[in-house]
Amino acid sequence: MAQPSYNLVLIVADTYRKDNAALSPAAELRSPFFDKLQPFYAFDRCFSSAPWTLPACASILSGIDSSSHGYFFHDRPLGRPTLGRYLNGKFQKVAIVNNRNLREFTGFPGDFDKYWYYPKHEEPFDRARQVLTDTAGKRPFFFFFHTNIPHDYFREVSRDYYREMFPDDHDWFLLGARVGTWTGLPAQQRAKVRSIYDASTRHMEEQLAAFLELIDLDQTIICFVADHGEGFDYDRARIHHGGRLHDDLLRVPMVLRLPGGAPREYHEKLAAAQEQSCGIVDILPTLLQLVEYTVPESISGRSLLEPVSTGRNRILVAEDKRYLYRPTRQRYNVNLRGQNTSLWSRLKNLAAQKTLIRGFNLKAYIRYPYKLIITSYHHPPYVSSLGTLVAENLFFSRDPLVQLEDIILSLELFDLEADPMESHNLLSGTSRLSLRNEIGDRLGDLTHMVVDIVGKTFSVETAVQRAPAQ
Ligand SMILES: [Zn+2]
Repeated sequence: MAQPSYNLVLIVADTYRKDNAALSPAAELRSPFFDKLQPFYAFDRCFSSAPWTLPACASILSGIDSSSHGYFFHDRPLGRPTLGRYLNGKFQKVAIVNNRNLREFTGFPGDFDKYWYYPKHEEPFDRARQVLTDTAGKRPFFFFFHTNIPHDYFREVSRDYYREMFPDDHDWFLLGARVGTWTGLPAQQRAKVRSIYDASTRHMEEQLAAFLELIDLDQTIICFVADHGEGFDYDRARIHHGGRLHDDLLRVPMVLRLPGGAPREYHEKLAAAQEQSCGIVDILPTLLQLVEYTVPESISGRSLLEPVSTGRNRILVAEDKRYLYRPTRQRYNVNLRGQNTSLWSRLKNLAAQKTLIRGFNLKAYIRYPYKLIITSYHHPPYVSSLGTLVAENLFFSRDPLVQLEDIILSLELFDLEADPMESHNLLSGTSRLSLRNEIGDRLGDLTHMVVDIVGKTFSVETAVQRAPAQ
């Protein structure tokens, strides 16, 4: 193993949408952060493996997709090595995190020399300044820096950020616990939510630009990524995050910056890899390879320095076992653990768990440009058939539905290139006989696609074969 000379900085912007990242110098609203970070490699087709913080950040740090690590609950540590552990030996390893999902219970701190969790937004940046000053010129360091500024746009703190961006405008309002449903928001306020969010992301970018000033860019490899995005499409019930697998949540900004003096070969390979589809799980193997550490075999990700041709037929997986967004915009904690935001929504959630919901699973298979979203639902015995009530209340897409014993599945296939808004389900109106071909032709191989509902695992192949004739 060669002596690593470069530092590694991994920045995770929580809940930062891809279309907020002004990566191009030609962007209309220039970003102080990305302007300063130039030149970098941008991965336009990077997908998260989960639509909320705990499973997504676990994937970033472990290189394992959410379906494989299954880390959707807060009752145990991840139990898998993370980047900090792989970098054992020569690196000083420091982490600063800003979201409750990343506290000590995850087990992440065990892989770092120092690990700080701060609930407020400015403290991580203050601590980072201190850390970067202290570590300057010593051992190479690995710095995992997580900021929750975009995530918290629905909180009181966003008022300050809003005024920074719109000094003459005092129409900021507190979204608060309504962030999950937008309940009771008049149209005028609904139209304003995005501006409040945008002001928060802008504030974060300014903070990150100042953060970059403290880093020796000639000696440091920087990766910037979001764990997932955020939804603002009220009419289609695609708001907030978790419980859905659309691209407003899964498609994330991801950039890598190498020092100019890094091997030419690495620059060339990353430049070529920008055209590929990739996942947040690829960050760990790529960073390890860039500092000449061995890439572990037991992970889902693969290094972006590997030849492009091997990525052609790759299928990326994303999953959520914890939340489900209903067409009413209500977000359920579907698998019995966890809390909702208010007593009333907790009670409704509990009632749903006792009656209709026994187990849900949301899974997406992405083989660019196609994405298959499978929503599966394990119904209680007294719901004997596909009751319209159940279907209409629980599923976004009711076409086509497939029944397999006591499990109902909704299948949605989208062409992300032709239909980036994911409006047209390519499987609409597809008969049982052609369902398999319609999916198989685009996704490549159904036999490896598995849906895992709590206590029940079956292949998509089996489900599709048993689809009702239409
Ligand atoms: Zn998050």
